[in-house]
Amino acid sequence: MKTRITELLGIEHPIVQGGMQWVGLAELASAVSNAGGLGIITALTQPTPGDLLKEIERCQSMTDKPFGVNLTILPTIKPVPYDDYAQAIVDSGVKIVETAGRNPEPYLPMFKEAGIKVIHKCTSIRHSLKAEKIGCDAVSVDGFECAGHPGEDDVTNMILLPLAAKRLKIPFLASGGLGDGRGLAAALAMGADGINMGTRFMVTKEAPIHDNVKQKMIEATELDTELIYRSFRNTARVFKNSVAEQVVEIESRPGETKFEDIQPLVQGVKGRELFVGGDLDKGIWSAGMVVGLIDDNPSCEELVARIVAEAEDILSNRLREMISA
Ligand code: NAD
Repeated sequence: MKTRITELLGIEHPIVQGGMQWVGLAELASAVSNAGGLGIITALTQPTPGDLLKEIERCQSMTDKPFGVNLTILPTIKPVPYDDYAQAIVDSGVKIVETAGRNPEPYLPMFKEAGIKVIHKCTSIRHSLKAEKIGCDAVSVDGFECAGHPGEDDVTNMILLPLAAKRLKIPFLASGGLGDGRGLAAALAMGADGINMGTRFMVTKEAPIHDNVKQKMIEATELDTELIYRSFRNTARVFKNSVAEQVVEIESRPGETKFEDIQPLVQGVKGRELFVGGDLDKGIWSAGMVVGLIDDNPSCEELVARIVAEAEDILSNRLREMISA
């Protein structure tokens, strides 16, 4: 397939693996890139900017295809030296960055000067238009179905994508709820130039997380996610485990919830321990509604090839038959 996204990023298939805290390591990013999509390393998963540089080098040794780095700017428990992470990205020679969270404008001059293409993740049309205005090369339009932070508007991709197609000039990816060829075909039909998948790539052979987590996500239905941090306007969609349910219960108590009340439950390091050790109630982990569509643990190569083949079949057979009947 050839779309504005495959052209912009120099990739074979219009499929991007979005940034994921603790999951976006070189093993996964290189596997997605080797499969013809775009793999993405998550900057903040690395404890220091120096470690990020090393992780990027490790990925460069595992693929000669393009890959990117995600830089997420959202509230964190410990302050993050974002400027130094951004500088490490520039120094690494990587040419694609996915930004998420706050407005990436402060980093655009340095990224542009280094010839880096910037894809900004947006959960609304107004933020997408702003990203276009400040000079981002593409946006990833993140519907309410998505894992992680869906924003506060609660608008799904059935509405966001056609609106983005009407209003944006720059290419855009559909993000949230995507996991199969039907999703890819539908996203393209609604005007997107490709898809961004996170949760689906968590359940692949190369995803560096414990098999218990993958198995749980295979068994899950579309009802197995929970929205937390609603009271802080930092909403996150996570897998519905006992810890997520506890957080929702604390947030629903009368009176104001303080972040300290839930911090011990949600801290990212617990999520990392969960991914490493496989104790499913150790902390929280991001997951989208698309868990309801996941029922196997393929390699990235198998997954990407299957999605593309499925989408091509829908576009060239099922839909064509409807209009030629
Ligand atoms: P962390 O351990 O610093 O914080 C854990 C969670 O609490 C994060 O979701 C964070 O946003 C939230 N948080 C921290 N301080 C907060 C505050 N004062 N008020 C409200 N919420 C607060 O974070 P981490 O797990 O190490 O992740 C690092 C960064 O990556 C965070 O900014 C996090 O939001 C982000 N992240 C993004 C996604 C995504 O889907 N884009 C997924 C996981 C993590």
